[in-house]
Amino acid sequence: MNNKVRHVLGISGGKDSAALAIYLKNKYPELPIDFYTCDTKCELAETEQLVERLRAYLGHITTLMAAQGSPEPTPFDHMLKARGGYLPSPQARWCTIQMKLMEFEKYVGDEPTVSYVGIRGDEDRDGYVSTKPNIQAIFPFRKNIWSIDVVNRALHNDNLQLFNKLYKEASTEEIYTEAKKFLETPLSKTFYYSKKLNALLDIDVKTFNHAVFAFLKTTELPVGQLDEFPLIDNDDVLVKADIFRILEESGIGVPAYYNLIDFEVDGNHGQYCRSRSGCYFCFFQQKIEWVWLLEQHPDLFQRAMSYEKDGYTWMPGERLEELARPERVRQIKLDHIKKTEKQKACQKSSLLVDIFSDEDEIQCANCFI
Ligand code: SF4
Repeated sequence: MNNKVRHVLGISGGKDSAALAIYLKNKYPELPIDFYTCDTKCELAETEQLVERLRAYLGHITTLMAAQGSPEPTPFDHMLKARGGYLPSPQARWCTIQMKLMEFEKYVGDEPTVSYVGIRGDEDRDGYVSTKPNIQAIFPFRKNIWSIDVVNRALHNDNLQLFNKLYKEASTEEIYTEAKKFLETPLSKTFYYSKKLNALLDIDVKTFNHAVFAFLKTTELPVGQLDEFPLIDNDDVLVKADIFRILEESGIGVPAYYNLIDFEVDGNHGQYCRSRSGCYFCFFQQKIEWVWLLEQHPDLFQRAMSYEKDGYTWMPGERLEELARPERVRQIKLDHIKKTEKQKACQKSSLLVDIFSDEDEIQCANCFI
């Protein structure tokens, strides 16, 4: 293993990054991974418990924290004050940038770094691509472990012949015969990146990975600076059920905020939980999660409410004070029961936690660097 290249993995306090840390530690003990977490001081106690259990399991997790030394109670309060109370939102994600991304990039510095990210094989989203060329993200749970910038470079028409040659060298005759027509076809409006990528991955994941690794050796990217990279021989694809299994089998367990809690409204029965880690006031949460916060962590709900001043709100069109009214809570719960029933009828999985967390999986993507 080349010691000039660092390997890092961010623990968000959610299930996917926790499972990835456990998976990589057990499957690739030779990878010298530095585990880190960004402490915002705005996490739920359940998230902090998970991070502590992981700390014991992994041996060490570095804690990063923005605005250290500030007289404000949390880094968030410090940043918010500097912005005159202007709350973050999906359109103005200053919280992620200031509390997490900047701390992460400071931690990494200028060293070539491979960052492992827990995006699952059943998720349809791209992960964080650093603007810093010395940081390269790898997605071990997906069929395509490479980030979009790497795929775009390797499959670019300018590199058609080079990639074809590298693929041929990495492949058996049989595999190459099957892949040749795709390798030789330039990208076009009808044969675009994802089509070419999927065609090659469907033929053989490992051969594709070996070809990309050889291609990276012609670039300045961190993985290309490694003498060997065991992930290129991994064609595992891990989905949500695998994540729960890894957490249970390791003894770490699923974060407690996933535990389903029964509720009853007008004789109708439902269940709720929180579907993500992150700040307790995160504006990505669903209305039913705000109700969960109100009933399960009333002190934190009150604190979130206290930030809604001078016309700033966490959700467009509704203040937390309004959401907390009994008739509004009742309506949100009834809507949630209806929505859950509908989704249960359409889904293959009968596990309520699957249905609930799939409801609206808008990820705080960069909070899972
Ligand atoms: S969890 Fe939500 S509120 Fe916290 S930093 Fe991420 S996006 Fe912002």
